[in-house]
Amino acid sequence: MRDLLHRTSETAARYLENLDHRSVAPSPEAIAGLAELQEPMPDRPMEPGLVLDTLDRIGSPATTGMAGRRYFGFVIGGSLPAALAANWLAGAWDQCPGLFAASPIGTALEEVSLGWLLDVLKLPPGSGGAFVTGATMANFTALAAARHAVLARAGWNVEADGLFGAPPITVVVGDEVHPALSKGLGMLGLGRSRVVRVPVDGQGRLRPDQMPRIQGPAIVCLQAGNVNTGAFDPAREICARAHSAGAWVHVDGAFGLWAAASPQLEHLVDGVADADSWATDAHKWLNVPYDSGLAFVRDVTALKSAMSVTAAYLPQGAHREPSQYTPELSRRARGVEIWAALKSLGRTGLAEMIERNCRLARRFADALRQGGYEILNDVVLNQVLVSFGDPARNWRVIERVQRDGTCWCGPTDWQGRTAMRISVSSWATRDEDVDRSVEAILRAAAAD
Ligand SMILES: *Cc1c(COP(=O)(O)O)cnc(C)c1O
Repeated sequence: MRDLLHRTSETAARYLENLDHRSVAPSPEAIAGLAELQEPMPDRPMEPGLVLDTLDRIGSPATTGMAGRRYFGFVIGGSLPAALAANWLAGAWDQCPGLFAASPIGTALEEVSLGWLLDVLKLPPGSGGAFVTGATMANFTALAAARHAVLARAGWNVEADGLFGAPPITVVVGDEVHPALSKGLGMLGLGRSRVVRVPVDGQGRLRPDQMPRIQGPAIVCLQAGNVNTGAFDPAREICARAHSAGAWVHVDGAFGLWAAASPQLEHLVDGVADADSWATDAHKWLNVPYDSGLAFVRDVTALKSAMSVTAAYLPQGAHREPSQYTPELSRRARGVEIWAALKSLGRTGLAEMIERNCRLARRFADALRQGGYEILNDVVLNQVLVSFGDPARNWRVIERVQRDGTCWCGPTDWQGRTAMRISVSSWATRDEDVDRSVEAILRAAAAD
């Protein structure tokens, strides 16, 4: 075991060091090499060292350089050194943190991290929390608590009796709702399409003057950080209106919620803490390894009512029992890396990382604008939308950028226009990485 783990750490270190010298996108040859994986289930065992070598030989070249300094696709984030190291140790620990009796350390790290997270994200102390796979499940989990609460107030027990015959719930979303939240609504029986969609402004912010009149059981879904523009819905005003009508307010803050951790950016989350539940990702802007999402719910009882699980063989002690807050019973101990990331950054390090990413996004926007290209969004956070002209030209330039391999950015559609989307969300990205990437992007655009 010791030799194997030593070799693994050498292999992984070599992989990470090499990221700086290879194309961010895997080469066509590396992708073609994946064909070697297509073999029947092996009959005979293979020595673990050889398994690792095979994985490295076929797998490492076929990875996308998401852990590197110049990956700006989607909203990905890297892995902080302390978080990656903790992830390895957690793998060796192999803890199942659903119950305190099963894993005292796994549950303790989640409990401590939960308190720290509520603190840095400026959310109500004492809120309930669930450590899940990502923001999709975090939205699902928080919305399950919302569904419980609004129906309980109407005298209906949704966990026991289901939705057949239940009082209808009005669900309000902005027109720019993230598809992952809509999927959560679908999984909860609230319907992906059975929603009131509120028009948004040019940055994708829900327009409060367009809010419908709300009556009866209702859930209003806001967004902190639009996945294209980075814009925030006006939470203070909408929370006040929704609450006066007795509605539950949920915030999808998959990456935007982390703005709260920065004194410079905190103004963006004004009023977000007035909501009733929040979803965010630690694998995005906290830069922990996949997968790691977080749901927070002000009313702990609502969350526990939606998620509780009981059986004689599942002891419920005096401790916080994580499986009472999550959809899963067995799962990995995500608190380990979250704790390590927060411990290694501290309050100041976290703020600095978020602010640096936003500053680098502005550096991108300024340089591309100077290069003669149009920036479609107000760069308030870490997202930049740049257009090189008509849709066909944008597609060609983006493809050329990806093939060049200096950096990786993806396409998007913003309010009827095609654009390239740049998301700066890794601890590892520095000024010179942005400058090198801008050069490559301008080269690709000029070649068209
Ligand atoms: C990324 C994202 C999601 C989905 O999160 P996953 O971690 O991929 O499940 C939901 N909403 C927003 C705003 C996002 O940016």
